[in-house]
Amino acid sequence: MRETLGTGFPGGDYSQIIYVADVKASGPPIDGGLLVDLDEADFLAVFPLKGKGRARLVGTVRGERADHAEKLRFEDVSERAIRNLKVKVEAENWFSTYHIHHRVAGRFRKGRAFLLGDAAHIHSPVGGQGMNTGIGDAINLAWKLKATLDGRAPDALLDTYELERIAFARRLVRTTDQAFNFVTAEGALADLIRLRIAPTAIAGAFLFGAVREFAFRTVSQIGLNYRGGPLSEGKAGRVRGGDRLPWVAENGDDNHATLAELRWQVHLYGAARPELADCCAKRGLTLKVFPWTLRQSQAGLGQNARYLIRPAGYVARADDPARPTGSSATSSPEVFRLESSAGQLRGTLGGRAGCSPVSLFFAAGTDVEPYRGLRRHR
Ligand SMILES: Cc1cc2nc3c(=O)[nH]c(=O)nc-3n(C[C@H](O)[C@H](O)[C@H](O)COP(=O)(O)OP(=O)(O)OC[C@H]3O[C@@H](n4cnc5c(N)ncnc54)[C@H](O)[C@@H]3O)c2cc1C
Repeated sequence: MRETLGTGFPGGDYSQIIYVADVKASGPPIDGGLLVDLDEADFLAVFPLKGKGRARLVGTVRGERADHAEKLRFEDVSERAIRNLKVKVEAENWFSTYHIHHRVAGRFRKGRAFLLGDAAHIHSPVGGQGMNTGIGDAINLAWKLKATLDGRAPDALLDTYELERIAFARRLVRTTDQAFNFVTAEGALADLIRLRIAPTAIAGAFLFGAVREFAFRTVSQIGLNYRGGPLSEGKAGRVRGGDRLPWVAENGDDNHATLAELRWQVHLYGAARPELADCCAKRGLTLKVFPWTLRQSQAGLGQNARYLIRPAGYVARADDPARPTGSSATSSPEVFRLESSAGQLRGTLGGRAGCSPVSLFFAAGTDVEPYRGLRRHR
């Protein structure tokens, strides 16, 4: 498919072979947390699986054995887990080997064809990010496809899929490549850093809550944002257009609950002016007003701020009524000036009628004027 589309798939290959084995076993690493053995240049990780005594071993092999990966059997690689980690393997349920690469397609869209998931980007298993990234691609593309097919958005909206996702894919492949090279580097210096310095430094760093939170947000990908993109505007509190809506659950209310509707909506944290409620009601937009709380402030939301949220939970526009009027602040008393056309949402945000790229979401397919701000980038 990539060849047909001519997207290319630049990047490289690793010399190591990865093996995966699902086993029934006992011993200290089984039924516990994730365990990584970095004793040698090849690494071995033990992941707990559901069910007592079940685990997945993921390891690398290189050299002569990697040259004949198709002949590799579990017996050829299991001695490391048995010797180093004292794993007692009772049954081998599944064993497989695969080559790994680090590559990102040069383009994620060509005409009516889109690349996503592993077809668009592949990387080492370090960090376990592949599935999440592919699902993120699919979520990003799905609502845009629907809006375009329904005639509510122009074709240019589909270009934003590549714009928003390819930068993240490139960064992910770069960082997982660095991490993989680090855990598999050979030589005395690499051993010293990997086995002596890094474990102490990493364990020390993880004593800090901020480091743990950063790691969590990175691995879970909830820290990913589309700031600076053509569909992102404004700032209110610490939240910018393009950020994932911060999650706040308290008093039996969960501000992500309405996101399950997968449609455009407005969230307000504080007191809503009546005209905003009227405006959203007329346009069929869900308006959710949350009484202001300390926890919202801690999550970075702004008091009385209005957030226009696109399907799938990212803020399209953050609007802070306390900010002075400017290019990214709105002077309109209606705040989000939304108009409806023939049952389709159509409108502009703030006082910049027809200029806001965000307005394309609301536009009927035949009206090209509101799309001036969003041009095809290729
Ligand atoms: C051993 C292993 C462990 C992993 N562990 C993790 C992990 O812990 N966390 C994580 O996030 N990711 C993990 N990954 C990565 C994750 O599995 C992939 O990133 C993810 O499955 C990619 O999903 P995908 O839908 O893009 O591709 P795939 O899952 O590869 O799906 C593509 C599908 O298309 C089908 N197909 C291919 N060609 C054609 C054709 N011409 N016509 C019709 N159908 C076709 C294939 O048969 C396949 O079913 C792991 C991967 C491996 C191999």
